[in-house]
Amino acid sequence: MMRQYELVERVRRYNPNTDEALLDRAYVYAMRAHGSQLRASGDPYFSHPLEVAAILTDLKLDDATIVSALLHDTIEDTSATKAEIERLFGHQIATLVEGLTKIKKLDLVSKQAKQAENLRKLLLAIADDVRVLLVKLADRLHNMRTLKWVPPEKRDRVAQETLDIYAPLAARMGMQDMREELEDLAFRQLSPEAYESITTRVSELRQFNGPVVQEIERELKDELARRGIVAEVKGREKRPFSIWGKMERKAIGFEQLSDLYGFRVLVSSVEDCYRALGVVHTKWAIVPGRFKDYISTPKPNDYRSLHTTVVGPRRQRVEMQIRTKDMEEIAEYGIAAHALYKDASGAPGEMLSHESRAYAWLRKTIENLSQGLSPEEFLEHTKLELFHDQVFCFTPKGRLIALPRKATPIDFAYAVHTDVGNTAVGCKINGTIAPLVSELKNGDEVEIITSKAQTPPGAWETIAVTGKARAAVRRATRAAVRAQYAGLGRKITERAFTRVGKPFTEDAVAKATPRLARASAEDVFAAIGRGEIKTDDVIRAVYPDWVPPRPEERAERAASGEGWFELKRGHNLKFKIPEGTTSERLDAIPIRGINGDLPVRFAPDGGAVPGDRIVGILTPGEGITIYPIQSASLQGFEDAPERWLDVRWDVDELSDGRFPARIIVTARNEPGSLAQIAGAIGDRGGNIDGLQMHARSADFHEMVIDVEVFDLRHLNAIIADLKAREVVSQVERVNG
Ligand code: MN
Repeated sequence: MMRQYELVERVRRYNPNTDEALLDRAYVYAMRAHGSQLRASGDPYFSHPLEVAAILTDLKLDDATIVSALLHDTIEDTSATKAEIERLFGHQIATLVEGLTKIKKLDLVSKQAKQAENLRKLLLAIADDVRVLLVKLADRLHNMRTLKWVPPEKRDRVAQETLDIYAPLAARMGMQDMREELEDLAFRQLSPEAYESITTRVSELRQFNGPVVQEIERELKDELARRGIVAEVKGREKRPFSIWGKMERKAIGFEQLSDLYGFRVLVSSVEDCYRALGVVHTKWAIVPGRFKDYISTPKPNDYRSLHTTVVGPRRQRVEMQIRTKDMEEIAEYGIAAHALYKDASGAPGEMLSHESRAYAWLRKTIENLSQGLSPEEFLEHTKLELFHDQVFCFTPKGRLIALPRKATPIDFAYAVHTDVGNTAVGCKINGTIAPLVSELKNGDEVEIITSKAQTPPGAWETIAVTGKARAAVRRATRAAVRAQYAGLGRKITERAFTRVGKPFTEDAVAKATPRLARASAEDVFAAIGRGEIKTDDVIRAVYPDWVPPRPEERAERAASGEGWFELKRGHNLKFKIPEGTTSERLDAIPIRGINGDLPVRFAPDGGAVPGDRIVGILTPGEGITIYPIQSASLQGFEDAPERWLDVRWDVDELSDGRFPARIIVTARNEPGSLAQIAGAIGDRGGNIDGLQMHARSADFHEMVIDVEVFDLRHLNAIIADLKAREVVSQVERVNG
């Protein structure tokens, strides 16, 4: 166990102004408090806080952090109290230790809602003082190093939590060494076989390749020296977890994994970074597409470096990171480098007042806490930030666009400019035409092809990953829908004016807007289009002395074929399609996942068709009802999880069975509209099984149509055809 003077010596090496008396007092206090307590390993308990403190001296942290590390388990596990620690060590340290005590029991691999709440608490504690996180990470690191002493049933959980929460937090804070060690230790626990096989293969390869690392190190050093560049060159093999990650991500075997070696070149100035890069690129062939310049555009956690990959002397791919010693400091210690004692008297706030983006990220995340996100949303959001690294892409002119992983060219387009997003019709990735829904990869050069005639499809809202793109799509589609209604309304209004023999001008309507309580002619037309106001009212607003025709007159005209038939609100027409025109009845519903002989039927209102994701609901004594997963009726069964059955379609490709679906078509109230709609469905091969008509307003009616189709694609084709008809203003599927 480390002696008192050894600890002080370690601190003094990097902090000559350390308060030795304070460190001594903390050492003695913690040792006495833990007394004869033992760790599972049989070591005195005090060896644990001491090791945690030692890890933090490697990060060169300030006295308050080291002292907090020594005391971090005292409130929880001994008779020590916050009040006593405050009296002996001051308010700042007492607050740090209390923060650590609070987050000690948080279980971060529990059920989602609980996990979210706990992560929230963890981040709040960190927000008070980021040193809480630094001690927590060191604490976790030591516990992972001594994981074999933890009871076997707890090990997986601790390792999983480390991999899910602490390693990404360390990464996000820029502490790469900490992150790698945490990952490898967790990986060894969670996938012992994979870990074993990777480390074995790496060491086999090491024997086969010989001292390749030393060889490259020497060659590179010599070459740099010849060009007058003073550099430190450090080579190493990749860590097991990072190799594993690459194998998983790329779904490749170990044999295909080519870049197992990484080199770091440390120079003294930014200029030398680029000169060293030139040397590397002249000496070895470069692997295209792997060069990244994080010096001109640092990562969000403040990481700066040049990255490139070259083909080494034995044809291996070799990764090179070139940076200055300052950049190295940030890369290794991350936020800890910023939290260094700068001024022994500094308050914690001042100590962290540096331009640390890692800390800015933390702040932003905490801010989200106060924006009323539900715990699940918060978790989703934070996990996204924590676990998904970013992808960096470029415009053809070389502008860097940073996006979250899984981002698409749609996100890219909106990140460049909202107008670019709204008018995007296609894209080129690295010079090749690609779908707008492709997943972007690091280093992709993306060119967005735009067209002024384009409005973004509503479906983009669910495809886009970034909030900016989603919000913009929503706005643009809303505006487009409104423009559609206004266009439709304008046509309807024009016709209505013509029908009563009055001249129509947009100006006249614009002047009448106050009488219609609308702001503009456009608004009037949109309201007509949506069926909110009647054309009669618009005519009267423009021509106040116009008298609308009496109902009898209208009926006469309708009968003579020149007018239109009118459905009154609440007036229902029921059509029953004659026997024989519908498909034959389904004998059996082709669904898997159902045992026994229970009767199976489709949800009465809406049905389900192959291609829908479905769920079965069991009603004792009655049987099983199949609902599409989006059905609102399913909410009624949320309290009865035992009634839910996992079911799947089991449709034979060749079968021509038909399935029921219900759609609502809103159409203009004019002669021939029904015929057009029935025609559209018939042309596509759909069977109308039932139809009800409701008047929604004088100008529109609504038809509820039960249609039998082969599958979802068939149904969508019918819906698309209907939408294309001029009389149709809206088509919606009913989901039971
Ligand atoms: Mn501990």
